[in-house]
Amino acid sequence: MRTHKIAAIPGDGIGVEVVDASLEVLDVLASRDGSFALDVEHFDWGTDRYKKTGAFMPADGADQLRAFDAILFGAVGAPDVADHLTLWGLRLAICQPLDQYANVRPTRVLPGIRSPLRHVEGPELDWVIVRENSEGEYAGQGGRSHPGLPLEIATDVSIFTRAGVERIMRFAFRLAQSRPRKLLTVVTKSNAQRHGMVLWDQIAAEVARDFPDVTWDKMLVDAMTVRMTLKPGSLDTIVATNLHADILSDLAAALAGSIGVAPTANLNPERETPSMFEPIHGSAFDITGKGIANPVATFWTAAMMLDHLGEKPASERLMHAVETVTADPALHTPDLGGKATTRDVTDAMISAIRGRN
Ligand code: ATP
Ligand code: MG
Repeated sequence: MRTHKIAAIPGDGIGVEVVDASLEVLDVLASRDGSFALDVEHFDWGTDRYKKTGAFMPADGADQLRAFDAILFGAVGAPDVADHLTLWGLRLAICQPLDQYANVRPTRVLPGIRSPLRHVEGPELDWVIVRENSEGEYAGQGGRSHPGLPLEIATDVSIFTRAGVERIMRFAFRLAQSRPRKLLTVVTKSNAQRHGMVLWDQIAAEVARDFPDVTWDKMLVDAMTVRMTLKPGSLDTIVATNLHADILSDLAAALAGSIGVAPTANLNPERETPSMFEPIHGSAFDITGKGIANPVATFWTAAMMLDHLGEKPASERLMHAVETVTADPALHTPDLGGKATTRDVTDAMISAIRGRN
């Protein structure tokens, strides 16, 4: 029996609800499968801890996580704590030291879910967005001076390194190559941002020479929003910077039906450190405690985690259960226009898993 050590960081708000639901489902899946087990340790890191101690996680938090095979993360943030404190205090404080430089966001319209795009049928929207996750616009460089004066200045400096751009580009080309259409779109804003974004274009052309079987093209990020909306079927694998992909993937999640069904993996592709799996959505305090959070994003996230851990059949079984559940409108939570609760969806998942061999 293979045992995988999982660090669970449910965080805040609905993060706790959807991670609890996913661990319950994973538990049933593992006992049904019989060939692997998950040894789960919980970490109470998040906003409550910050309010009590001044830190979202212990100073050696990222190092503690190195002992695990994967991290399952919920969401972090609360209405009364500034978003940038939260982001830098926990998510980036994990992703950056563990060098999870490839953020991967699959997007497709699951069975039974309607895209807000009237012309879109399921298979027409099937993308993977690769987000550079270690530098770029979120490198944290810059500062402020002359507070309160008319000449007050605030700068955010984007950092693009050859090594950083090349490794994400290679990852994206490899991923595109592994998918049936072998199609990659490289997104930049190289007409206006004439240093870092031009470096992206150059490195894309260089790396492309090593992948002659991949068809690739370049898009400016503004035009990309139009193409995603009007010609979703023309896209497959997409690579973009930290900021651009952050925005595009929220658009992608909405076009696929709801942010409540969109998963993410923060990967260290070389597997030198554990990778972290989380839903795209945040802590959503407007619905916290109501029992109506859509757990599907986190179920899909958990399937990505199993795949990464080498448990492919279990991952496929989990996704099959997800698709069985989403196909039934009676099991849609309010974000999908339904009346189902987190509990209803979780119970249906468990039945779907138990029902299959
Ligand atoms: P953050 O600041 O971390 O982005 P947030 O509280 O702003 O968190 P978002 O994830 O950005 O929340 O989501 C925006 C809104 O979408 C939420 O307020 C909620 O109404 C809805 N939403 C998000 N995730 C879910 C979900 N899993 N199920 C149902 N509704 C959701
Ligand atoms: Mg938000």
